[in-house]
Amino acid sequence: MRVGIGHDTHRLRPGGPLRLGGIDVPHDRESIGHSDGDALLHAVIDALLGAAALGDVGQMFPDTEAVNRGRDSAEMLAAANEAVAALGWEIVNIDCIVFLQRPKLLTHRLRIRQRMADILGIDVERVGLQAKTGEGIGTIGAEKAVAAQCVALLGMSDDV
Ligand SMILES: [Zn+2]
Repeated sequence: MRVGIGHDTHRLRPGGPLRLGGIDVPHDRESIGHSDGDALLHAVIDALLGAAALGDVGQMFPDTEAVNRGRDSAEMLAAANEAVAALGWEIVNIDCIVFLQRPKLLTHRLRIRQRMADILGIDVERVGLQAKTGEGIGTIGAEKAVAAQCVALLGMSDDV
């Protein structure tokens, strides 16, 4: 078994929709990033790569490379998952927290979990998602940023 952790933050600006967990959440703010700015998927990528000691998202998908500009993070996550699987690891489960003042993610939660499960090729029961506001303080509370954390547990293929 191996455990990994990932964290990511992206600045927000007026616009929309908000790209999160591989879906477009209707919102009046959008994420700024070299890729599509999906903080949640980037945290998942880092958790998977971290668990397999394969580095991090910035190492695998450098923002100095034009191919990564505006890139779909779902594609990046699938590639990271493949790299981890190539070493014999399978995902036991992932659990994530999104830090976002607005909108409430409750109504989008199942769709985001299902989307992440589909990208990873695992059952939705293996994908946990929690959501926290910034309690109106700090950069999250001021709606200047969205952040996400993820832990991933990997097992060798025979044990999963
Ligand atoms: Zn990111």
